[in-house]
Amino acid sequence: MNQNLVKSLINIVGPNNILHSGAEKNRFTHIWKTDIPLEALAVVYPKTTEEVSKILKLCHSSKQEVVIHGGVTNLVGGTETQKHQLVLALDKMNAIEEVDSQSRTITTQAGAILENLIDAAKTENLLLPMSFGAKGSAQIGGVVSTNAGGLRVFRYGMTRQMVLGVEAVLPNGTIISSLKKIIKDNSGYDLKQLFIGSEGTLGVVTKVILRLSEAPTSRSSAVVGIKNYENVVKLLKFLEQNLAGTLSGFELMWKRTYKAMTTQPSHLTPPLAQEHNYYVFVESLGSQAEQDYVRLEDLIGQALEKELIEDGVMAQSERELSSIWQIREDVSVLAAQANHDQHFDISIPIPLIGELVDHMIVELEKLPFIERVFPFGHVADGNIHFIIGKKDNSAEIIDAINSIIYKPLKEIGGSVSAEHGIGLHKKEYLFTSRSKEEIEMMRTLKKTFDPLNILNPKRII
Ligand SMILES: Cc1cc2nc3c(=O)[nH]c(=O)nc-3n(C[C@H](O)[C@H](O)[C@H](O)COP(=O)(O)OP(=O)(O)OC[C@H]3O[C@@H](n4cnc5c(N)ncnc54)[C@H](O)[C@@H]3O)c2cc1C
Repeated sequence: MNQNLVKSLINIVGPNNILHSGAEKNRFTHIWKTDIPLEALAVVYPKTTEEVSKILKLCHSSKQEVVIHGGVTNLVGGTETQKHQLVLALDKMNAIEEVDSQSRTITTQAGAILENLIDAAKTENLLLPMSFGAKGSAQIGGVVSTNAGGLRVFRYGMTRQMVLGVEAVLPNGTIISSLKKIIKDNSGYDLKQLFIGSEGTLGVVTKVILRLSEAPTSRSSAVVGIKNYENVVKLLKFLEQNLAGTLSGFELMWKRTYKAMTTQPSHLTPPLAQEHNYYVFVESLGSQAEQDYVRLEDLIGQALEKELIEDGVMAQSERELSSIWQIREDVSVLAAQANHDQHFDISIPIPLIGELVDHMIVELEKLPFIERVFPFGHVADGNIHFIIGKKDNSAEIIDAINSIIYKPLKEIGGSVSAEHGIGLHKKEYLFTSRSKEEIEMMRTLKKTFDPLNILNPKRII
């Protein structure tokens, strides 16, 4: 049966676009775990939407489970596989079809790497404002399917806000195309929204049209040290009020995280002394380099006088800009310092973050198997990440840590996933963020799109 399926897949994609008979073990299920071989029936690499459609038709008729692979950078187990599952990898569907400077759009196949799209937009002096640490590996299909956030959500919104058109293939092979460049379209249900953030449970995203923005011509950044969380919130308000819409990044790091990011074995050097309780990375994007720099520098000076901050430093060159932001983006440095790492991506109302995170750290450090607790995050969006290092990876330990982080969320109106999604790892805690009725509606949608439950089974619900 499996051999027949593999033969049929070879007929669709050709012998050079499939890994099987042991060759599939050359692939991995996560970018941080490239030494763990993939367990799967085969890995198939379609090149066109029509091939994706034929593959899914075949899988639908033979009830074959399929797991979609983009850049495999997700942090929720979304691309983990089992022996009997087929991996559908979008790597070869990576053509960037058009950058339209008049409509300010980019049209692309789903397997294009995010960073390549950002660069392509740049050639027309346009900005694709998505930015996060995994941009060099994440594919736009994965980014859309997870509705990724990142460092500039505060100014430009989540991925959803940038998607104008989606082409997707349903689990039964039907191609649903809504590839329009228009911004306004109230002609009935906005079906493309169903494929954004649904983590490949409702269809395979094969093409996308994204909205671009005029590229800012200046980028100014500062890192500041702050004594208490109250002042973090005050500084956010002060900068928002005074930067007239150009504030684009406001990223928070707790002292312990900043220290770990800027001390050996990390190769990064600290731009500010490691003595402050909080560090904020500020970014402003504008159109007049010199004035924008002076404006931010002046505001940092005022914040110092008002004692909102204890110290601050401006990035004075492109090199300094990139090394400052590396401290915030290159968080694999933190995961590398743990025997086993567990990641969190929660939403908390902004005023509650300081106290709640302190409480969580105290509770976590009472557990004997905890090695490190690193909080940081997109504080202007109320989104905090934790990377937690632990001695062991047993289910009881994972549960004990999860319950400390997730337990308070329902009561305070937070979310178990701000931007990474639910995947396999957070399923059990979906109830902390969604009502019974909402979860039931999700189930109904899944059954309607995928009655045989063959596409990305067991993700989310
Ligand atoms: C260092 C680092 C930093 C990160 N920072 C952020 C951040 O700041 N913000 C953020 O939101 N995320 C972040 N992430 C998580 C991750 O990069 C994003 O979730 C990203 O959008 C995933 O894209 P991908 O192509 O790697 O998708 P994958 O990991 O391959 O897949 C993610 C999910 O989408 C499905 N999928 C993939 N491609 C498709 C497709 N074409 N059609 C349908 N379903 C598909 C998969 O089956 C899986 O369920 C970070 C990850 C790392 C490693």
